[in-house]
Amino acid sequence: MVEIKLHNTKTRKKEVFSPLNPDNVRMYVCGPTVYDRAHLGNARPVIVFDTLFRLLRHVYGEDHVTYVRNFTDVDDKINATALARKEAGDPRSLEELVHERSEETIGWYLEDMKALGALEPTEMPRATEFIPQMVAMIEDLIAKGHAYAAEGHVLFAVESYKDYGTLSGRSVDDMIAGARVEVAPYKKNPMDFVLWKPSTDDLPGWDSLWGRGRPGWHIECSAMAHDLLGESFDIHGGGNDLQFPHHENEIAQSKCAHPEGDFANVWIHNEMLQVEGKKMSKSLGNFFTVRDLLDQGVPGEVIRFVMLSTHYRKPMDWTEKKANDAREKLGRWRAETKDVEAGEVSADVIAALVGDLNTSGAISALHGLFQKKDFAALKASAVFLGLLEDGLGEKYAAPAKYVLSAETGKIGVTGNAAQFVVSGGVDEDIQKIAAARDKAKRAKNFAEADRIRDQLADAGVVLVDTKNGSIWEKTENFDPAKLEALK
Ligand code: AMP
Ligand code: ZN
Repeated sequence: MVEIKLHNTKTRKKEVFSPLNPDNVRMYVCGPTVYDRAHLGNARPVIVFDTLFRLLRHVYGEDHVTYVRNFTDVDDKINATALARKEAGDPRSLEELVHERSEETIGWYLEDMKALGALEPTEMPRATEFIPQMVAMIEDLIAKGHAYAAEGHVLFAVESYKDYGTLSGRSVDDMIAGARVEVAPYKKNPMDFVLWKPSTDDLPGWDSLWGRGRPGWHIECSAMAHDLLGESFDIHGGGNDLQFPHHENEIAQSKCAHPEGDFANVWIHNEMLQVEGKKMSKSLGNFFTVRDLLDQGVPGEVIRFVMLSTHYRKPMDWTEKKANDAREKLGRWRAETKDVEAGEVSADVIAALVGDLNTSGAISALHGLFQKKDFAALKASAVFLGLLEDGLGEKYAAPAKYVLSAETGKIGVTGNAAQFVVSGGVDEDIQKIAAARDKAKRAKNFAEADRIRDQLADAGVVLVDTKNGSIWEKTENFDPAKLEALK
C-alpha cells in the first residue's frame, strides 16, 4: 500500500500515517458556524481536507473512509439575524426563524462548496441534533471531577487535566498571559471554559440539570466526534486559528470523559488565507465571500486551483494575478482535454500528495502532463483533484478585477464594490470618516485630510493610501470611545 506522510501538529513532525483500522479511516474536521455566507478563508480548510479525503479514498478505497464535518448551528449571530427578522415584523416564532436562518446558511454553504469541487463529507452533523450527547458528556465530566456547575453555567476545570496546552505547546501560565480569557465571578480559574451556559427566554435553549441553556462551542465537536467516530480516531483537522483554544479544549474534554481513548491521533492544521498580502478581515475591508467571487464570474475551479497551488501549511495569498493565471491555464487544459477520454491518475500526482499533501507539487505534475501532451492522464489526474470536471467552471467570464473603493474604503470586484459595504457598528462609522477624509483629499483640502487622518490614528485606526483611495485598518490600540467622539 502507498505510504502517506502527514505533518502532525501534536508531535510537530511529519509521520507515516497508519490508520487504526484501514477498513474505516476516520477523519473529523471542524466545520463552519452557519450564520452567513462562507468567506474565501473558510473555503481553504474545505479544499485542503477535501483533497486529503480524496487521497485517503484513493489509497484505502472509497468505502473505507469516514469524513465528518460538522455544522455549528448554536450561535449568537444566528440568533441575532432571527431576532432582527422578528423585529422587522415576521410573525413566526423565534425558534422557527433561528431554524430558517441555519437552514438557508447551510444550503448556501453546500452550494458554494460544491461549486469549488468539494465532495460532500460522509457525515455532516448539526450541533442541535446532538444536544443529549453533549449533556451526557458534561454530566460525565462533572462526575469525574473535571467540571463544575456554577450560576447556571458548567465550566471545565482546566487544572484537572495535566496535559492541557500540549497541542499548541503552551503552559497554562503562558495561556493566561496571552489569551483574552473572560474573567467571570463563577469561574474558579480564569482559564476554565464554558461547557454549558444559560439561555434567556428569547434565545434557543434546552432543559438540563443546570437550568435551560445551551452548549459551549467546544463540547459540540467533542460530543459529535465521539458519537460518530468513537473514542479514538485517526485525523482531526481545521484551520490553525482553531488550535487554541478550540482544539486544546476539545482534547481536554474528550480525554477526560474517555480516558481510555486517544481522541485524534493526527492533528492537521491549515494556515490562513490572506488577500493581496493582508489578513482577510472585515475591519481591513478586504473581506469577500466565495459567492461574491462566483457571482463575479470567477469559476469555482479557478478558486480551487489557486488554493491548491499553495501548500496547506503556508499562509496563502489570494491575488487577482494568481486567479487570472489559473483561469488561463485551466482554459488551455480544458480545451485540450475536451474530447479526450480520461486515463489513469498519474503516479507523479499521487507521489506529491502522499508527501504531506503537497498540492502545489501535484499541480506542477499536471502541468508536466500538459507539456508532455499526455492528455488522458491530465484529465484523469485533474478530475481526481477536483478540477476539469464537467459542469464545474465552464463559465469563463472576463477576469475579475479588484478595485479599492474610495467611497467605501473597501476592496471590491469591478462593478460591484457596493456589495462589500459593511453596515452598522463601528466599521460603518470608520468607513464614513475615512470617506470624508478621502473626499477632502480629492478636493485638495490637505489640511483637513491630514487632520482627519491624525484623529483616526489617535483612535487607533490607520489609513493606507492607494491610488484608488484609502483603505483602513483597526490596530491593537483601537479606542471605540475616541472614535465615537469623532462622529
Ligand atoms: P469559522 O466558521 O470561523 O469557525 O471557520 C470555519 C473554518 O474556516 C475553520 O476551520 C477555520 O479555521 C477556517 N478559517 C477561518 N478563516 C480562515 C482564513 N482566513 N484562512 C483559512 N482558514 C480559515
Ligand atoms: Zn471543532
